[in-house]
Amino acid sequence: MKDISIYIHIPFCVKKCLYCDFNSFSDKSGYFTEYKNSLIQEINSFEKANDFTVRTIFIGGGTPSVLPSLFIDEILNAVGRKFYIDKNAEISIEANPGTVDYDKFSDYKKSGVNRVSIGMQAIQDRLLRILGRAHNKDGFLKSVESVRKAGFENINFDIMFALPNQSFYDLEETIKTAVSLSPTHLSLYSLIIEERTPFFDMYEKGEFLPVSDEDDRKMYYLAKDILKENGFLQYEISNFAQKGFKCRHNIVYWERKEYIGFGLGACSFFGGKRFHNNYSIDEYIKGERFGGFEDFTEKDALAEFMFLGLRMNKGISRKEFFDYFNTPINNVFGDVIKRNIKKGLLFEKDGRICLTEKGFDLANIVFEEFL
Ligand code: SF4
Repeated sequence: MKDISIYIHIPFCVKKCLYCDFNSFSDKSGYFTEYKNSLIQEINSFEKANDFTVRTIFIGGGTPSVLPSLFIDEILNAVGRKFYIDKNAEISIEANPGTVDYDKFSDYKKSGVNRVSIGMQAIQDRLLRILGRAHNKDGFLKSVESVRKAGFENINFDIMFALPNQSFYDLEETIKTAVSLSPTHLSLYSLIIEERTPFFDMYEKGEFLPVSDEDDRKMYYLAKDILKENGFLQYEISNFAQKGFKCRHNIVYWERKEYIGFGLGACSFFGGKRFHNNYSIDEYIKGERFGGFEDFTEKDALAEFMFLGLRMNKGISRKEFFDYFNTPINNVFGDVIKRNIKKGLLFEKDGRICLTEKGFDLANIVFEEFL
C-alpha cells in the first residue's frame, strides 16, 4: 500500500478578513449541510482508495470550525470508511477563535483529530481590527484555554507580521505571548497585499503604507530570534516547531509527495497529475465537482521539486532527486547550483543542497533561477 495525504477544504468563515483572497465565503451558512453532504459523496466516490494508507489529513479552509462538530465527525468517518487511516496519522484542523469552545474541541478529539491550528495572527486588538479579523485577544486566549482543557497537545498558532501600523514592539509582544502559551508549532507569514481584496483597494487609495522590505526582514529576524531562544527549530522558511512536532502534512507538499484534495476548489497531486475541483459552490453541491487538470510539464516538475525542497532547512538531497527523476541533479541544474553557491545563496553538505541565511532572504530570486 502506498502512502497518501488528504486535504479537506471547508470554504466558510464568520466574516471575510480584509486581506484574504482564499477560497472562502462569509455569507453562505445556508449551504453548510448541502456542502457537507456533497463533500461526503465526493469522498465516497473516490476510486482506488484500497491501494493507500493515509498518513496525514488536514481539514483547512476557510474556517472549518464554523461547522457543527458533528459534520466534522461525519466527514472523518467517511474518510475512515473509504480509506485505511494509519493509527499514527496526523489529523489536523484549522480553528479560529470565536468559533470554538471546550465542547467543540472535545468533539474533535473524539473524532480522531490530534492537531489543532489556531489563527492568532497578532495579539493586539488594534491590529486585529485593521486586519478585519473576527476575533480579539480575549477570544484567542479563551480558545487556547479550551483547546488545552480538551486535552490537545499538538497545537499550532498562525501569526502574521509586516502589518500596517505594526511596531517592532507589537511583533515582539505577539511572539512572546504565543511562546508563553507553549504551542508545539508556529507558522509565521509576512502580510502580502493581494489584488482583489479590500486591503489592496485601501493600499491603492493610500490609506496605509506597506511595510518596507527592510523592516519586513528585520521583523522576520526579530521573530526568528525569539523563537530560537525558546527552543523552536526552524524547519522551513515560515515554520517553526518544538522537537518532534513538525507538520507532517505540509512536509508532504514540500517533498512533492502525492495528496488528494476533497472539497470546493481543492487541489490534488495524484497519479503524477495536478488537478483541482470546481470553484463554484452551486455546481459543487450539484455534484459537478471536478474543476480541471493543470498544465504541468516535466520541466515544471523539476523546477517545482527544487523550489519546494529548498524551502526546507534540510534542503534537497542529490539521492532523492535521482530517485525521483532518474537523472543526476547536475545534468539538469548543475550550472544553477554552482552559480548560486558562488553567490553565497546555496551551500552543499553531505549530499544535500540548501539555502544559506542570505539565500533564505533572497529565496524568490533563487527559486526563479530554477524555472
Ligand atoms: S479566517 Fe482565514 S480564510 Fe477566513 S477570511 Fe480570514 S484569512 Fe480568509
